[in-house]
Amino acid sequence: MSLFVVGTPIGNLEDLSFRAVRVLKEADYVLCEDTRVTRNLLAHYEIKTPTISYHQHSGLSRTDQIISWLKAEKSLALVSDAGTPGISDPGAALVELVRKECGEEVLIESVPGPSALAAAISIAGVGCDRFLFLGFLPHKKGRQTMLKQIVASEYPAVVYESKHRVFKLLNELIALQENFQVTICRELTKKFESVYRGSPEKLLAAFEADAVTTKGEFVLIIGKEKKQKTK
Ligand code: SAM
Repeated sequence: MSLFVVGTPIGNLEDLSFRAVRVLKEADYVLCEDTRVTRNLLAHYEIKTPTISYHQHSGLSRTDQIISWLKAEKSLALVSDAGTPGISDPGAALVELVRKECGEEVLIESVPGPSALAAAISIAGVGCDRFLFLGFLPHKKGRQTMLKQIVASEYPAVVYESKHRVFKLLNELIALQENFQVTICRELTKKFESVYRGSPEKLLAAFEADAVTTKGEFVLIIGKEKKQKTK
């Protein structure tokens, strides 16, 4: 009957809302990316609802099964490994499909919660009333186009990055020779949460000097240094 799209913690297991706990308990199934990750969260809250994996490689039979459960008045909760489903993860494709296949027959309800995007912006302190969110930059095709969008944007650009690619991105930003100011939010809500700010050159030097700082998960906010107004 309902598909609940549930935001879950991005690191700190305490960041699950009361409503999310109730919805996850009451659902017939929890659809998740990696069942091991979600079972860990559910165990923390003593939630016994069965988990079903749903990820980018799930085939048609799995999506057909999900649609038929919904049409049979089952209640499903969709979660991702961390954060809000649908933001740079497989959740978006499932929600799109359910809207298309089930129309108004199935209610899709949001149970909002943490997101790395919102968490990063909330503590970066760089004036993000407006921003350009690019998710993960493509590894090859389309990457240069997105870098050009970052250069052209009048608003800070927010990107997700894996630990291996932070170096690559900082080097690319240096090569573009713009006066970028980059804020790197690492391991948000976790023990080693940290925020680094500076030019790509400064950040690269700091990261090269201390490999520990490049461990974990990252959100980068790429803005440009404001030009001083002349009288
Ligand atoms: N849907 C999720 C959300 O709402 O935050 C994002 C999913 S995306 C597959 C995962 C990426 O989000 C990571 O590679 C990293 O860039 C970012 N991320 C997730 N958790 C994070 C954390 N605790 N600290 C910093 N970045 C994080």
